[in-house]
Amino acid sequence: PLDQVSLGRKSWSVLHTLAAYYPDKPTARQSADMDAFLRSFSRLFPCPHCSEEFQANIAKSPPPVRDGRALNRWLCDQHNLVNERLGKPKFDCGKVLDRWRYGWPD
Ligand code: FAD
Repeated sequence: PLDQVSLGRKSWSVLHTLAAYYPDKPTARQSADMDAFLRSFSRLFPCPHCSEEFQANIAKSPPPVRDGRALNRWLCDQHNLVNERLGKPKFDCGKVLDRWRYGWPD
């Protein structure tokens, strides 16, 4: 089984990768699928306090699924909220697509 750290790291990898390849202008179907995916994920994530917190954050700030750029920013902000809670450094959200889609320039 995965420990909490590996589960978290792998889960963020999937979440950020899905967002990075999500279109800037999604179809109505894509928006509905992404909204349903994120809400289901937040309820099913097998770390009770993480799940509760993520659900509460989604209720406060719904994912902007009609706009791919805004969605990447939102997810980066969500991850930064967890980073802050855990005392980890804040990630620069201007670099989120370099990290999760295009790679770092040399
Ligand atoms: P991670 O935080 O897993 O990050 C992986 C990589 O993502 C980093 O190396 C970095 O390159 C990149 N990254 C970092 N920040 C960002 C960002 N803001 N945007 C884009 N990319 C970024 N753990 C708890 O102990 N308590 C919690 O309440 C908790 N809630 C969680 C909620 C969710 C939805 C998820 C998916 C995980 C949660 N975790 C929680 C796990 C925690 O966030 C980390 O995944 C885990 O501690 C491992 O951390 P890490 O240092 O390996 O890097």
